[in-house]
Amino acid sequence: MNLSFVIPVYNEEQSLQELHEKIVENIKDYSYEIIFVNDGSTDNSKVILKQMTEVDKNVKVINFRTNFGKSAALQTGFNKAKGKIVFTMDADLQDDPKEIPRFIEKIEEGYDLVSGWKKNRKDPLTKTIPSKFFNLFTSLMFKLKLHDYNCGFKAYKNEVVKSVTIYGELHRYIPALANAQGFSVTEIPVTHHKRKFGKTKYGAKRFIKGFLDLLTVNLITKYEKSPLYLFGLTGIITTFLGFVISLYLAVSKIFFGVSLSNRPLLFLGILLILVGIQFISIGLIGEFIVYLDKKKQKKLDQS
Ligand code: UDP
Ligand code: MG
Repeated sequence: MNLSFVIPVYNEEQSLQELHEKIVENIKDYSYEIIFVNDGSTDNSKVILKQMTEVDKNVKVINFRTNFGKSAALQTGFNKAKGKIVFTMDADLQDDPKEIPRFIEKIEEGYDLVSGWKKNRKDPLTKTIPSKFFNLFTSLMFKLKLHDYNCGFKAYKNEVVKSVTIYGELHRYIPALANAQGFSVTEIPVTHHKRKFGKTKYGAKRFIKGFLDLLTVNLITKYEKSPLYLFGLTGIITTFLGFVISLYLAVSKIFFGVSLSNRPLLFLGILLILVGIQFISIGLIGEFIVYLDKKKQKKLDQS
């Protein structure tokens, strides 16, 4: 199998036929599979996809019971994808299948992940302006400069999709997650079309969630293997400061008879020690979780 397409679908009934035709038109020389992950659509998408499997045996459909979100849909598709190169595309015809050969070229050049860049984006300003900030911030944070992290149009070597784990809304950060695992990432400008049918599934709320996810991805990419390094260091510094303050107060009391009842510093000392111990404990629990997971993995590998 040469190519796999993973396409998340949430109420896109009017786009599906045309999308399928256009993809097939652009990959004539390759064997392929198109995996539509129907993310709990409430329109006619399910029926249309079922019919499509009868016409084209390369089309596979996974139906979710309800709307689990784009990340869950992509992850499920990734687990099933057998092609050497795996593409993701949005189902709404905003991404243009004409670009497929250019992605393949870049993969053949040796890149592990090729991300689309909607250079001339056909979306309202309420989307494009926040998106500029998002991309700038994310690029700086992960030291991986991309104009368009969240472009739905991407190509991956199969190994990449088998190595990243996404859930919630983490699909926005796939390039950062892959890059942190040592995969090479590049981008190419792609044509972008206005949404012809249906409407966008994402409003302004996504930016707050997106920011929280940034913290998660930061943790995953930098401290996944050793949570104690993150929490432990903070914990040691805090505990140490608390200890110094308490020692100073103890010396003043014991040797110089200073009264401690009106010293706010006393509370700070106690607070710092308590918070510090909590940080260290959280780090240790994190380590324990990582350890259990590795142990489970080892058992699975042996069986
Ligand atoms: N999508 C999905 N589940 C969701 C939301 C969206 O599978 O909960 C799919 C949607 O059908 C489309 C893609 O994800 O194929 C991108 O969604 P959309 O076009 O609404 O996002 P936008 O282009 O406006 O950022
Ligand atoms: Mg769209």
